[in-house]
Amino acid sequence: MELKGLSASSGAAVGPFFLLSTNIPTPNSQMSQLSFEQEGHLLNLAIKRVGQDLEARAARTVGELHDILLATVEIATDPAIAEEAAGFIASGHTASYAIVKATEVFQELLRASGGYLAERVSDVANIRDRVLCEIAGITYPEIPHFDEPTILIAQDLSPADTSDLETEKILAIVTAGGGPTSHTAIIARSHGIAAIVACADVVETAKAHMGQKLAVDATAGLITFNPDSGLVAEIAQKIERIKARKSRVITHSPDGYATTDGFVIPIFANIGRLEDTSAAVAAGADGVGLLRTELLYLERKDAPTLQEQIAIYSELIKPFGGRKVIIRTLDAGADKPMAFINFDKEPNPVLGIRGYRTSTTHEHLLRTQLEAIAQAAKNSRVEVWVMAPMITLPSEAADFVKMAREYGLQKAGVMIEVPAAIFLADEITKVCDFVSIGTNDLGQYLHAADRESAPLAAFNDPWQPALLRAIHLIAQAGKNNNCPVGVCGEAASDAALAPVLIGLGVTSLSCNVATLSDVAQSITAHSADQLLLAGTAALAAKTAQDAKNLAREQLSELRNLGL
Ligand code: PEP
Ligand code: MG
Repeated sequence: MELKGLSASSGAAVGPFFLLSTNIPTPNSQMSQLSFEQEGHLLNLAIKRVGQDLEARAARTVGELHDILLATVEIATDPAIAEEAAGFIASGHTASYAIVKATEVFQELLRASGGYLAERVSDVANIRDRVLCEIAGITYPEIPHFDEPTILIAQDLSPADTSDLETEKILAIVTAGGGPTSHTAIIARSHGIAAIVACADVVETAKAHMGQKLAVDATAGLITFNPDSGLVAEIAQKIERIKARKSRVITHSPDGYATTDGFVIPIFANIGRLEDTSAAVAAGADGVGLLRTELLYLERKDAPTLQEQIAIYSELIKPFGGRKVIIRTLDAGADKPMAFINFDKEPNPVLGIRGYRTSTTHEHLLRTQLEAIAQAAKNSRVEVWVMAPMITLPSEAADFVKMAREYGLQKAGVMIEVPAAIFLADEITKVCDFVSIGTNDLGQYLHAADRESAPLAAFNDPWQPALLRAIHLIAQAGKNNNCPVGVCGEAASDAALAPVLIGLGVTSLSCNVATLSDVAQSITAHSADQLLLAGTAALAAKTAQDAKNLAREQLSELRNLGL
């Protein structure tokens, strides 16, 4: 029995599986037999306990998971949820029913906000489930300790579910929910665990195949219950190839990674926090191709001062002495709203005042940031380039470059992530020192499909022909105008797609730290000709799958690398 989902973290596994129970009480709307005070007490106690438990989990974790868990504690203990629930209790309902209804209201608000906030919908669901178990006095179904390495199957995994995960015992993770940027995906990638998300029928199918073995090919997004011996042997081979890839040492010149025939391609890292810097250096990054500065200030109520910014940028770029770091100015708005930029309520924030557009109302913020970047650069040994997000018109690009120069920043460029900029790429690459393609946004805007939406995930497949052709057009414009064209969206983190991007004319890649070494392996295993042929083949494809297949035919080493 074979099922298909979305690859969230590449790898392969075969072994026993464990299905995480979804046994949570489901309250009904019957009126309570208890008093308003008694139900209120039950609810408040349950919320308090859940908050304390989440806090303890946060204390046991580090890095991204720690940050996510702290944010979850804030949601769980937000008085607005308790107040909303109190309204239902006041009208005679039980505490359990009240928490279900109150969290529904919150989920709706988050969904309407879209983007990163929409992803918090599942966190709220998990808080609700934990509170329901507390009220009912039953134990929340946790992931148990496994004696032998096991494949974990779940409806979805919340950050709290994975806080105590014994990662060395997990062969792979398969979830019915989630998307490529969900917590499951982030956690799996950071631990190098193979993972498939959005595998719709996996829970029901697992129930029908209890006790059987499961084969997971996370690179292809395929799982097979009760695999035959042929498939088991194939997966075992794949696992061996992956092991060999992880131990393969690749040579690296100061300018980048070389193809088998010596064509050098810089591979940079995407970073957003201090913790990422050492990981980026350790992964062999040639520098930073995207420093997402807004991630430093998402929780801030007030704008960071000039001095604060100088301090943090100086610290962030320091480990990259002698190399290049591209700092992106604030990409605020849409899925990353910031309290210190007063956005009017917009009907469609993703199509609203975000990225560079915020400088029309908050020019001082952009100026302060450019000054801070310039000062941090001056006091360092780092080649600092600066880039603006969400540029639509050549005039915006020209204004940004001019402003950057006023602060002494010699290399200024823009992101191309709005479809209009594809067709204006000639003019844009004439006025910029470089451009970088944001395939995450460019994909969503090209296909009019929210990049966080699981049902629309296929539109946001970075192999979509429209996106590949757009990248080619931009790269051609860059070539004509002698303007380097990088890719810093997630497309560059796909080790099979990265060589294709170079074949399409892109001159550098910037990927997430977790996949950087796989991308480097894939580039260095092929010749420049193979990359070109793969790019040409993908360009002719009519579907995303077609593009993958045609490109793979040219990239003969992918299979040997287990990619
Ligand atoms: C992109 O859109 O591809 C990109 C790199 O920017 P972000 O993901 O931060 O929107
Ligand atoms: Mg973007």
